[in-house]
Amino acid sequence: MKVNCPNCKTIVEWNASAEFRPFCSKRCQLIDLGQWADEEHTISDNSLKQEDISKHIVSSIDNSVEAAPQKGLSPSELEDIEAMLNDLSDDSFFRN
Ligand SMILES: [Zn+2]
Repeated sequence: MKVNCPNCKTIVEWNASAEFRPFCSKRCQLIDLGQWADEEHTISDNSLKQEDISKHIVSSIDNSVEAAPQKGLSPSELEDIEAMLNDLSDDSFFRN
């Protein structure tokens, strides 16, 4: 019985002495296994990267919140607001 090597398509005699069947050689067997391993490696790499990206986004949000904490009003700004409220209650608000 003859089979084609899955890697290089060389015709391989399928018998007890064909140590690497269905591959023609150990090299082709290792290449094929290596492709499987690479594929799994790539998949886990991608999921790792996505996880890293999510963490990066979360930490970016955390950083931006920390970088811009709720802005407190300075005393002069409070005075301005109080004056504005006084103006409203004293004048325009009650007049209308
Ligand atoms: Zn081969």
